[in-house]
Formats: sequence, structure tokens, C-alpha cells
Amino acid sequence: MDLMTKLDILADAAKYDVACTSSGSSRSAQKGKLGSACSGGICHSFTPDGRCISLLKVLYTNVCIYDCAYCASRRSNDVPRAAFTPRELADLTIEFYRRNYIEGLFLSSGVIKSPDYTTELMVRTLSILRHEYGFRGYIHAKAVPGTAPQLIDELGHLADRLSVNLELPSQKSLALLAPQKSQANILAPMRQIRDSIAEDAETRALARRKPTFYQRQVRVARKQEAFSPAGQSTQMIVGATPESDYQILTLSAALYQSYQLKRVFFSAYLPVNQDPRLPSGDAVQLNREHRLYQADWLMRFYQYRADELIDETHPFLETDVDPKANWALNHLDLFPVEVNEAPLEVLLRVPGIGPVGARNIIKARRTTTLRESELRKLGIAYKRARYFLTCNGVYGGAGVSFTREALRPLLAAPIEGGRHGRRADRVLPGQLSLFSDLQQIPERPSA
Ligand code: SF4
Repeated sequence: MDLMTKLDILADAAKYDVACTSSGSSRSAQKGKLGSACSGGICHSFTPDGRCISLLKVLYTNVCIYDCAYCASRRSNDVPRAAFTPRELADLTIEFYRRNYIEGLFLSSGVIKSPDYTTELMVRTLSILRHEYGFRGYIHAKAVPGTAPQLIDELGHLADRLSVNLELPSQKSLALLAPQKSQANILAPMRQIRDSIAEDAETRALARRKPTFYQRQVRVARKQEAFSPAGQSTQMIVGATPESDYQILTLSAALYQSYQLKRVFFSAYLPVNQDPRLPSGDAVQLNREHRLYQADWLMRFYQYRADELIDETHPFLETDVDPKANWALNHLDLFPVEVNEAPLEVLLRVPGIGPVGARNIIKARRTTTLRESELRKLGIAYKRARYFLTCNGVYGGAGVSFTREALRPLLAAPIEGGRHGRRADRVLPGQLSLFSDLQQIPERPSA
């Protein structure tokens, strides 16, 4: 099979994996070497449904000994199969890099022969890239559950980010849809990656602080690359099994806390197989995925706890109101707040005010009294925020009854001219691959 056919098959097979942002690595360009993993130098691409992808996103192979019900590459599917050699994939990456098509590599794989054998092939590929070509670009590699710790260690010293896909939110669902996987063998490499990242960071920090005493560590640190310096992430499929948003978000919160994950990615279930264990119907729950990302964002950047956003009695996020607005509507007794006095943590709870806006408000009010015009100049989404604010004693939402019933439809309406909830009303024409015909890609709505 020629290389382009392999690439066609393996880039296409990789398109279902969404966990591929490249932020977090700070390795810069170096004379005589190729590439840079600094965030500013990384090319990203966005699929039409808004997902962030790296341009060379491939599987090492789509041959797989497992038979996960939801997966296009599962053993029982009759699909064209292909596998790179380590040399082919490394050369291809460099050729694409030199042509300026890509800035990095996102490498995942089916399980060929065994998790160890698969990881060995990935390690060989990345070794050629890093050591032979001196490639310093961003590499995100998937760690295969069940791989020996030594191989995970080698992979981690070659990649910027590692991820182990949790796949499904509960052991029960894994047992049903991915019987060869278990939470235990998924969490074991996650734990190892967490510990290795912490250990590596600690060793390097000590070596920097006490160079004399830690000369040996300095030498070791210089010799080998940092272990997964951009952290680890995971991905969960949403909608293939009955778990609620409450279960998914509480699990995500636990993963952030216990495993220090950088990101939990949510992937709306895409029906690619006929299987009685899977939900019937073709509906892709992109709106649900979108709301989960918003809630995840609130937990990571706004200090919301999962149980503030959702609870067991209302286990699914509202689809027509974003989770922050919904929280505010449920806590009207705390509003309106005076924008010239409210502390940062209170401003962060106001719909329409983000972390940057909140800090700008705090800074600006040291020298001026803020009114509507100043807030607009600071980039605050005043149309949303006004129902929850007073500016120098003047309530911005005058004329509208301060009740949940009256405010809810105003907050549910899309922001005029913005991209709010932009994927909610989009029809997903199927996932696109590197080689998809551009005619298939629907036009983005203009801003
Ligand atoms: S392990 Fe499961 S999800 Fe991964 S490629 Fe194989 S069948 Fe697909």
C-alpha cells in the first residue's frame, strides 16, 4: 500500500478524536533543530463544528485487536486497514513540517498485537523525530491503557502532552461498550503520568535552585527531555451511554483534582456503527457537548464547583441557557451587585463578565467611577450583564421584571452578532478528515 493511501486511511480514522489542543508547552526554537512548541508558533485548525485540531492528526494504525462498540476501527468492522512504519510516519511529519502544512503531530493508534507493541512503535516513531531530525515541534501522543510503565515513561519523555482516553463515564458503560477496557487500566497510566510530571518538575526546579548539590540531576535533566511538559488530558464520549451531565461533570471535577489533568474533552457520540448496545437514531448532541464545555470552563477559570452548576435532582444542563446564566437565575437573591464595589469573585459570577473583564473592572475603578459607557469600553457584554448590575447606584435592567421568568428568555436569546452557541443550530455533516472534499464543509456564519 502506498504512503498516501495509508495517510488517507489513518488521517480519516483519527478524526473522531477531539482531545488535541496544543497549549501548555514552552519549548522554543533552537538553532540547528526543527520546530517550536511555543503556543504562539503552533498552527491550529478548526473543524467546521468549532473543534480545535492539529493539522497532522493521524493514527499509527487502525488495526485493532479490541472491539469497542462505538469505534469505526473496531476489530469486527470491515474497513480498509493500514499501518505506518515508524520511519514512514516520522518522514511524513517532517515533510509536512518543511512544507509548512503543520507545526506538530497528534498521534493516536489502534491496538496492534498488544498495548506494549503498539506503544513501542509510537516510541520508535517519536524517537526518530526527536533524536534523528531534532524535531522540537509539539507532539501529543495517546497512551494506550495496559502499556507497561517503562514504555509510558519513554513515550512521556518524547511527547509534549500525553492523554489516556477515559472513553466512557462509568465502569458499567465501559463493560458494556468497551469490554476489553476497564477504568482500572485506564486510571493506572493516568496516575503514572501525573506522578512522573510532578517528579520531573520537582527535580528540574531543585536542579535549578541548587546547581552544585544537584549537579547529577542537572546532567540528567539536560540529557533527557521533560516528561510530558504540557500535562495530560482525557476524552469522554457523551451520549453513547445514559450517564447524566451531573455524572460527567462530577467525574471531570474529580479528574482535575486527583489527576491534575489539563483538559477533559467531551466528544458528542457520533453513530458510525450499527450495534444493539448503542443508542438508536442519528442525532449528534453537539449542543449538549457545548454546554458541558461551558460548565467545564466555569470550573477551571471561574472557580465554580460542579455541584453549584448541576445537581442530582436536575442532572442535565439546560440546553437553551448557558450554565453561568442559569446559576445567576437560580441565585437572584445575590443580585444586582454594584460594579464599583463588588469583589473579583462576585464580578466573575455576573453573566457577561469574564475573567479578563472582571480584572479590567477592578483596575479601572481605582481611577474612575464605572458607568454603562465605561463597561462597554472595557469589553463587558453589557446587554447580558446589565440585569445583574448597578452602576453607581443605577440599575441597568430597568423596565424588566427582576424575576427568573422575565430574565430567562432574555438570557437564552443568542447574543446579536456574536457566535454564542454557534454550534447549537448547526447540522454536522459527518466528521471531516484531512482529505475531505472542501465542498462538504458548510460555510461559517459571518460574525
Ligand atoms: S481500542 Fe477501541 S476505541 Fe481504540 S481503536 Fe481499538 S476499537 Fe477503537
